[in-house]
Amino acid sequence: MAIKEPEVLNPFEVAVAQFDVAADRLKLGQDLRAILRMPKREVSVNFPVKMDDGSVRMFTGYRVQHNVHRGPSKGGIRYDLHVSLDEVRALAMWMTWKCAVVNIPFGGAKGGVIVDPHDLTIGELERMTRRYATEIASVIGPESDIPAPDVNTNPQVMAWIMDTYSMHHGYSIPAVVTGKPLAVGGSEGRMEATGRGVAITTREACHALGMPFEGARVVIQGFGNVGSISARILHEMGCKIIGLSDIFGAVYNESGIDVNLALAHLKDHGRLSGLSGTTPIDGNDLLELPCDILIPAALEGQLTQANADRIQAKLIVEAANGPTTTEADEIFHERGIPVVPDILANAGGVTVSYFEWAQNLQHLSWAESEVNARLEQIMVRSFNAVNDIRKEKACDFRLGAYLLSVSRVAEAAKVRGIYP
Ligand code: NAD
Repeated sequence: MAIKEPEVLNPFEVAVAQFDVAADRLKLGQDLRAILRMPKREVSVNFPVKMDDGSVRMFTGYRVQHNVHRGPSKGGIRYDLHVSLDEVRALAMWMTWKCAVVNIPFGGAKGGVIVDPHDLTIGELERMTRRYATEIASVIGPESDIPAPDVNTNPQVMAWIMDTYSMHHGYSIPAVVTGKPLAVGGSEGRMEATGRGVAITTREACHALGMPFEGARVVIQGFGNVGSISARILHEMGCKIIGLSDIFGAVYNESGIDVNLALAHLKDHGRLSGLSGTTPIDGNDLLELPCDILIPAALEGQLTQANADRIQAKLIVEAANGPTTTEADEIFHERGIPVVPDILANAGGVTVSYFEWAQNLQHLSWAESEVNARLEQIMVRSFNAVNDIRKEKACDFRLGAYLLSVSRVAEAAKVRGIYP
């Protein structure tokens, strides 16, 4: 029996390994490869915040800009105890490829603070956010690097960042962040955009693979912004959501979960557990349920060598960033389970962030129907472009998406040349 090598769970090593596969296939020269493998800029900040009880607590945060060859860098800010520099580097690199897959004029960045925001009062959260925004203010800006929400950050956090940055400049600069509340220049449709994009991509993947979409049994890990909206829109499109989870546990109903009831339950109780009409199950077991489509929508490193052999889904759609390790990806490839990669599947968020930024710069505001129609067009066009490469090169969706995006970024890097 072949002994498997210990698995790499460092997200940046996973991200670089994924890039290397595409770079090999594209026969990228050593110079370009060296440039694209590394983040352009990394900022680490340690800063004090006054807590409500009068004490002072130190926090550590990061902002990493991976690449700006195609335009300003773009990427979310995450508040989580697991945030590390390597995680932020990986997420920044994935943002570069994601923006290139959907062909929007941005490079990739990401930020994070090591914190469990649930431990903070609202006042502490605001002060921590404003101080972190101040610490990274010299590297962000509407023309240079534009943050957005990610895990445990939301429109309110974006409004504080926008206000802090604007105060430093003496006038309002809404285009410095996206995912803002509508009242301060947010875009219609942004809250739903990532989940809507996941649903559209799932539908297109089913059609491309000849799998039934209506009535498909779907399991979703994570019931935050991305997971819950994906669940709701897939439910509206006729899929049957049979399993859902959040950090507290998982719920299951083979005949289908009422997603609107789940949303109402979450609002009232802050968690899915106890949802009527469902059976509680272990969060790890949820991933291994028999189903047609599995959608990891929580964190990275969820589908690994340890569970990939037991996954029973016929299609995996990565709503989260980096949920599948390299080893698990190989197992799925061998087992013939297609994986629609994160950089394509969850690109709806950054696409509507791009719309929000463009509206802010022009002082315009588009109707939700216009935003959704443009999003649909870009997601379908991008899926088709990746699917065409997949068929032409006889590769999987991930490599197809990487070949498309890495070649676009490499072309931009090549024509710009090296300064000076
Ligand atoms: P969120 O904070 O709104 O929700 C995260 C959800 O995951 C919560 O329901 C949480 O309880 C759950 N969760 C955390 N750990 C879990 C675990 N071990 N098992 C099961 N559930 C767990 O975050 P989000 O914005 O929905 O982001 C989710 C993923 O999607 C992340 O990988 C993020 O990078 C990615 N993403 C987000 C956006 C966006 O627009 N928000 C865009 C692209 C990608």
